[in-house]
Amino acid sequence: MMNHLKGLNQIDSANHFSPFLPLLLFAVLFLYNCSSTEPFSGYSYDPPDVTDTEDKEIIYQKKRIIGIGEPKIWISNEFNGARVSDAWLAPGSSQDTVIIEVEPENAPINNSPWYAFQIWSDQEQKILIRLSYENGRHRYVPKIGESADYMSWKLLSDSIFTSIGGDLLFSIQIGIQKQWIAAHPVQANSLESLLNYPDYSGFASKITVDTVGYSHNNRAILQWQSQGNLGSEKEGLLILFSRQHPPEVSGYRSFLYFFSRLMDTDELAQTFRSNFRIIAYPMLNPDGVEQGHWRHNSSGIDLNRDWEYFRQPETRSVRDALSPLADGRYRVVYGIDFHSTNENVFYPINESVITGIDNFTQRWFPFVAEANPKLNFRKEEFEPNSPIAKNWIYKTFGTDALTFEVEDELNEEEMQNLGHSAAESLMKLLLNELENTEN
Ligand SMILES: [Zn+2]
Repeated sequence: MMNHLKGLNQIDSANHFSPFLPLLLFAVLFLYNCSSTEPFSGYSYDPPDVTDTEDKEIIYQKKRIIGIGEPKIWISNEFNGARVSDAWLAPGSSQDTVIIEVEPENAPINNSPWYAFQIWSDQEQKILIRLSYENGRHRYVPKIGESADYMSWKLLSDSIFTSIGGDLLFSIQIGIQKQWIAAHPVQANSLESLLNYPDYSGFASKITVDTVGYSHNNRAILQWQSQGNLGSEKEGLLILFSRQHPPEVSGYRSFLYFFSRLMDTDELAQTFRSNFRIIAYPMLNPDGVEQGHWRHNSSGIDLNRDWEYFRQPETRSVRDALSPLADGRYRVVYGIDFHSTNENVFYPINESVITGIDNFTQRWFPFVAEANPKLNFRKEEFEPNSPIAKNWIYKTFGTDALTFEVEDELNEEEMQNLGHSAAESLMKLLLNELENTEN
């Protein structure tokens, strides 16, 4: 494609008329059209062959406590979620430097090095930690916690961070008290992380929880469904997905706040739920979450590239639960798949593609941005040609759908405000839409 354009420019700069120009233009346009319908092979940030979703080998974390140096420094990964592969003392350094190596479940892989460890020492001391990544480079700012209680975590803000190649070096005071250092606050168990989430008790009685299938390692794929008979001839349905990618905690937390706002007791939420049913899959990759994977499930596959061939049990479970709803009894009005990346981004379906409620994402976007003035938001449209969850929703139900990317490092208050406000504006817009179609 680039070569053809270059060829055209050369003809222009030569400043003489070529009888082949119309033919060339036609060829360029033809090639351009072909390229837009070419089979999808991966986004710019994907490793090669990401759409080959046949099972691959993975490496499980070896769980252990590693003791190094004198007085002893102890490093543990004996908990679920996030990774540490090995730790050793850097030879010849003036101050004790502990190298902590973090390996992904398999490679090549998207750069989402998700680490977490507990550290303590027989004696109070200040050490340097060097986070060293196999098949990746540093991404997530270290957080520190004194317990697994999610809300007690804070940024390791009084440390000076130095990047060395793709590694991160920082100092830390350690002693007999165990501390957690992690890319994101550790939530040891995927199910517990749902149940311990502060708002869960508020909506637990308002949802039906079903297991629609099991992961590769036999963990439940949960479905949450809002209750009640909507009484309309054709029920409106909102579909929500979360946590296909294990380290994407901010997207997951924002989803939880989003969901709890939909389940609220105020008039807006009640009216919404009496007009639209909500079906959510809060934890699509429980193996990856509990085993501390950077990206994949237990078959070493990026689940969000498997929504065409459904070779993985996690995606198949959701497909089999949702597909029967395309039989005409329901009207799926919208779908959202929550993720995290280094910025807040909406990835809508191209405006030129006609969807059930057309360009809903494009109309919703400004309300979300306006309600979160301290955050930056970007929007980038895509053709619905890749094997990702959003496109499967569109292809199955003809409805608009969104990949909602939340910035990796949002704090809890920002995630809460984002989730709540986004749910509010979405409810208002969808109710408006309903009124317009009924009038
Ligand atoms: Zn993701």
